[in-house]
Amino acid sequence: LQPVIYRDTESGLDINDFSDAAHHVVKQLDAAGYAAYVVGGSVRDSLLGLHPKDFDVATNATPDQIKHVFGRQCQIIGRRFLLAHVYHNRHMIEVATFRAPHHEGSHGQTSDHGMITRDNVWGRIDQDALRRDFSINALYYQPLTGEILDFADGMKDVRAKKLRMIGDAAVRYREDPVRMLRALRFAAKLGFSLEKGTAAPIRSLAYLLGSISHHRLYDESLKLFSCGHLDVLLPGLQFSGLLSQLFPHIRESGHLPALVTLAARNTDERLRQGKTVNPAFFYAVLLWELQQNILQQRLDAGEPLLAAYQQAAIQALGQQYQRTAIPKHASQTVREIWEMQPRLQRPKSRQVPELMASPRFRAAFDFLLLREMTGDKNTNGMAVWWEEYQTAHDDHREQMLRQLD
Ligand code: ATP
Ligand code: MG
Repeated sequence: LQPVIYRDTESGLDINDFSDAAHHVVKQLDAAGYAAYVVGGSVRDSLLGLHPKDFDVATNATPDQIKHVFGRQCQIIGRRFLLAHVYHNRHMIEVATFRAPHHEGSHGQTSDHGMITRDNVWGRIDQDALRRDFSINALYYQPLTGEILDFADGMKDVRAKKLRMIGDAAVRYREDPVRMLRALRFAAKLGFSLEKGTAAPIRSLAYLLGSISHHRLYDESLKLFSCGHLDVLLPGLQFSGLLSQLFPHIRESGHLPALVTLAARNTDERLRQGKTVNPAFFYAVLLWELQQNILQQRLDAGEPLLAAYQQAAIQALGQQYQRTAIPKHASQTVREIWEMQPRLQRPKSRQVPELMASPRFRAAFDFLLLREMTGDKNTNGMAVWWEEYQTAHDDHREQMLRQLD
């Protein structure tokens, strides 16, 4: 299969987007006699005027050969998908060997349901291109020659702002159901429309996410939260049935909880301002309703408030763990945010300094504020109080504290 070749200078790609590290890796591999290209998200994003931060390189060198070229700068990782991490000037570049279709050969494995479980059969660049997910993710850029190799009409789709699965979409989703999440995420992030055949099978295949490991789904959930366009992504995920695969307690139709919608907009805004987002915060938001429902059941059963509150948190997180394995540090943060809610709602004046000094205060306060903005009366109007208190002068603070007791 022959590629269509474009020149970087004529395609809208910004050569300054590509880091020294990406150049270095391609140059070293080239000097050692291998073919090497920057590929995937960074080429796509640069063509669209977004400035990529991560770079993936694809090469005909095998992992052992890559290791030989870069020595101690290089680490081989992965199992399901072997690849090399090459370090240069504190940047890390992922270097993957060209892969062939999985059905022939000894290092590929498919499950009975057509799902790829091992993906380590080396191949040619054109084979590598066709086993990538979307056409716009299958452009190969050679920074030394300035050529962009297009095997799958990716450039046309970039220009038409269309997200199109390479090959038969249903087959490709069966091979790897996570591609359905990727489809909606890229469409939202890039403002692309999903090509008809790419969109069509998703609803009926959404259930396949049930066969994906809960660790991988956690990683994917983080990418969803930080895509910068959660406000459009979440409703799409909901109506396609994908969201309830990840978060079974969220209904497939009707409005998303107001807290979720508001937090999504807030998260997108933070990212626009270049701030970081804590995924645990968004987990606290998504699971809040579940925690509150369990709490109510426990209270109705006569359990004392404090114990019920703690057990509801443990149970909600435990249920969610089955779907997206939330790591310990994140679930700890979720619990702390939740556990501070009643304390922020009804503080005693002497507890105020201690609450404010808590490392979780900022997140818990932000959470309280979002709840109050959705009209949640249980916050007792205290988000506004805390907001004022944080910026108040000392004498005003004393007066505010007296109000509390
Ligand atoms: P971003 O990093 O911005 O989320 P990306 O396109 O770089 O987007 P990665 O997950 O970093 O996504 O993957 C790099 C490339 O590897 C993709 O562009 C695509 O070509 C290929 N790829 C990744 N995941 C899959 C998959 N599940 N199926 C097929 N190809 C994939
Ligand atoms: Mg990437």
